[in-house]
Amino acid sequence: EMVENEILTATQTVTWDDIAGLSQAKRAVHMAVIYPLLRPELFQGIRAPPKGLLLFGPPGTGKTLIGKCIASQAGATFFNISASSLTSKWIGEGEKMVRALFAVARVRQPTVIFIDEIDSLLTQRTDGEQEATRRIKTEFLVQLDGCGTSSEDRIILVGATNRPQELDEAARRRFPKRLYVPLPDRAGRRTIVTNLLRSQVHSLDDANLDLVCDRTAGFSGADMDTLCREAAFGPIRSICDNIIEAREDEVRPINFEDFEYALTQVR
Ligand code: ATP
Repeated sequence: EMVENEILTATQTVTWDDIAGLSQAKRAVHMAVIYPLLRPELFQGIRAPPKGLLLFGPPGTGKTLIGKCIASQAGATFFNISASSLTSKWIGEGEKMVRALFAVARVRQPTVIFIDEIDSLLTQRTDGEQEATRRIKTEFLVQLDGCGTSSEDRIILVGATNRPQELDEAARRRFPKRLYVPLPDRAGRRTIVTNLLRSQVHSLDDANLDLVCDRTAGFSGADMDTLCREAAFGPIRSICDNIIEAREDEVRPINFEDFEYALTQVR
């Protein structure tokens, strides 16, 4: 019950179209993970699919989205867990939690277990790590290694990390498939902005959108999301500043100045 309440995400459908750019990563994920979940009979013997997929790269670049997409596309149950919540949230209950997680994952197959900050679970620290934390990590490895031993098991572990260099050899061995999830390029940023503005009334033309993309080099997808949300409040701010009670049809479109202001606020 604890597992169901805390970490079983309601299946929200995510398709590849929801994820801008990352075409190489998408193709690799489809081939290595989604297709084997859909057609297990094709992936026997030396074609056995990896049980662990590691996504690494800067924060906010779509790693969680990819995890959700795998689950949606394969019709799998999706567990979204942050490693730090396992070691801190359920004080004294961590090991039980880990066992329960894998038990539910087995019952609900096919399953995608997505673990953010996987580095903090897999790397045994030698310095003053608490005994309880160490036991949780050990239990996690025991469960992980026990899962997927039968070819019937359709459980895939997707780990995400911003610090792949901290994974030791033993951790890396559990993730035979590793994919770099980079920051979006200009075209990727453009797609993200265009998608976010699609449902809004705005007056930005192509030249304006080009300028927004020029000025957001180094932004992650999550940063672009924040920027657009900030800009989208521009028209509302105008109303509030003028203390005018606007009717719905008087809200002006989001314009380029809103983006210029948002750029001063974000990052
Ligand atoms: P973290 O490492 O910080 O957990 P993450 O890589 O898992 O980050 P997500 O949680 O997948 O990042 O992305 C955060 C939000 O940023 C998404 O909900 C989405 O709105 C936006 N986003 C990030 N990357 C993309 C992308 N490639 N296409 C569309 N939206 C994106």
